[in-house]
Amino acid sequence: MSRARILTFGAVLAATVVLAVLGYVSLRQWQASAEMLFREQSRDMVTMAAEKVEMAILKSEEECLSSLQVLLMDPAFRPESLDVWRRKNPIFDSISLIDRQGQVLYPAGGAGVQSGLLREIPQGLWDRGGRRHLLVGEQVVLVAIIAGAAGGPVLVALGRSDEAVKREVLAKTLGGLEGPSVLAVLDAQGETVYASQPLGGAHRVLTVALGEALPRWRVALYQPEGASRRGDVRRQAMLFTAAFALLLVVIALGLGATYRAVKRESEMARLKSDFVANVSHDLKTPLSLIRMFGETLELGRVPDEATRREYYAVITRESERLTRLIDNVLDFSRIEGGRQRYEMGPHPVEPLIHEVLDAFRYPLAQRGFKLDVVVAPDLPDVLMDPDAVKQALANLVDNALKYSAERRRLGVSARRDGERVVIEVADEGIGIPPGETARIFEKFYRIGRSETQGTRGSGVGLALVKHIAEAHGGRVSVESRPGQGSRFTLILRAANDPLAPTGRGSATDPSPPGGGEG
Ligand code: ADP
Repeated sequence: MSRARILTFGAVLAATVVLAVLGYVSLRQWQASAEMLFREQSRDMVTMAAEKVEMAILKSEEECLSSLQVLLMDPAFRPESLDVWRRKNPIFDSISLIDRQGQVLYPAGGAGVQSGLLREIPQGLWDRGGRRHLLVGEQVVLVAIIAGAAGGPVLVALGRSDEAVKREVLAKTLGGLEGPSVLAVLDAQGETVYASQPLGGAHRVLTVALGEALPRWRVALYQPEGASRRGDVRRQAMLFTAAFALLLVVIALGLGATYRAVKRESEMARLKSDFVANVSHDLKTPLSLIRMFGETLELGRVPDEATRREYYAVITRESERLTRLIDNVLDFSRIEGGRQRYEMGPHPVEPLIHEVLDAFRYPLAQRGFKLDVVVAPDLPDVLMDPDAVKQALANLVDNALKYSAERRRLGVSARRDGERVVIEVADEGIGIPPGETARIFEKFYRIGRSETQGTRGSGVGLALVKHIAEAHGGRVSVESRPGQGSRFTLILRAANDPLAPTGRGSATDPSPPGGGEG
C-alpha cells in the first residue's frame, strides 16, 4: 500500500482511538457527576427532613412548656392539675418539678425523678433560665427552668416518650413523602425506629444526624432496588457504553472493509499492468520468430526444400499461437463487457479433442512430450459452441506444456458420466500449491513462483476456461500436487441432458470471468 493510504488509515485509526478514549473519559465524568448530583440531592432531602423533624419536636416542646407555665402561674394550681396536663401532652411520659433546694415538688413522694439528674443540671441553668436536652439512660429528658407558682425558679424535667414521638412527630412530618424513596429514622444501634414506607429490599443511601433535640437518632434515606437514580445512571451508562462500543465496532468493520477494498483495488491495478506487460511480451515472441523465418525465406537463404518446409511450419505454428493469444484477449474483453455470444449446437467431442491436439503436435513433439489420449467410444454429443470449447481445451493443453519441467507427459481423456461428458487434461509438471487452486481461475491471477519466472502468460487463460465451462452449464476444477502434476477436469453436459444450455446463439451471462475481482 502506498504511504498516503497508510497515513490515511493511520489517521482514521488514531481518530477512532481518540474518540474511544474521549468517549470513555466523558462517560466516566458524566457518571461521576451524576452520582455526585444524586448524592447532593439525597443529602439535601435528608437534611431537610431532619430539620423538619427537629423543628416539629422543638415546637411541640415549646407548646408543652408554655402550657405548663400557664398552669403553674394559675392561682388555682394544684398538683392534680399536672395529671390532666400529662394526659394532654402524651409526648412526655414523665414529669418532675424540683425547686432550687432540690426539693421534689411533683410527683408527690419524689418517685419518677431519675437519679443523678440533678447533678447534671449546671448551675448556670438555674441562674439564666432556658432549657436543655439530657440523655438519662436511654431516655431523652427535657429540662427547663420556669417560674414556679411561688415566684421562685422551678426545674421541670420532662421524660420524652419514644412511642409518642414516633406517632405524633415522625409519622406527621415524614409520612407524607411521595415517590419510591423511603425516609426512616434509625436509633443508635441502627435499628429502624420509624419508616415512611415498608423498607422491603430498599438499600440505604445515606444518613444524617438529628439535632440536639433527638441526640441518639439519625434520619436515613432508602432507595428501593431498581428504582434508584443510581440504578438509572448505571443503566444509562451501560446503554451509552453499548452504543459507543457498537459505533466503534462499525468503525472498525468499515475500516477493515475499506482496507480490503483498497488492497484489492491496488492488487487489481498491479495485475492489470502485469497483464499488459505479459500480453505484449507474448505477442512479441511469435512475431519476431515469424519475421525472422519470413525474412530468411524471402532472401532465399534456405539451402533445401526440407528446411524451407520446416520454416513454413514454424511460421504457421507461431501465427496459430498468435491467433490463440489474441483470441484469448479479445474473448476476455468481450466477456468483461458482457458482449460474448456462443453459438450453441449439438457437436461430437472426439474430433474437437483431436483438432486441439493437432494444433499442439509440433510443440509437443519438439519438447519431447509423451501423449496419452483416451476417448471413450460411447461419448454423447454435447450442446456447445465448438470454437469456445476448443479454446478452453487449448488453454488447458498450453498450460500443461508451459508448466511442465523434466517429466513431460500429457494425458487427455474424455468419458461419459451419466448425462455429462468429463474431459481431463493431466500433466506431470510443477503442480499448484494447495492454497492457490481456487485463485488461478480468477482473472489476471498468476502464481508468482521461481519455477515459472521465465514463463510468460496473460493470466486470463483459466478465467476464460471457467467462463466457457459455466456458460455451457458445466464447470472446471483442478486437482494438483506441487512437484507431482495437475489434472484439470472440464465437465460439459450431453445434448440430451435437460440441464444442458438451450437454444442457439445464447448470450452468456454478463458476469465477468473468474468469479471475482481477485
Ligand atoms: P497464464 O497465462 O499465467 O498461464 P492461466 O490463467 O492460464 O494464466 O493460469 C493461471 C496460473 O495457474 C498460471 O500462472 C500458473 O501458475 C497456474 N497454472 C495453470 N495451469 C497449470 C498447470 N497445468 N500446472 C501448474 N500450474 C498451472
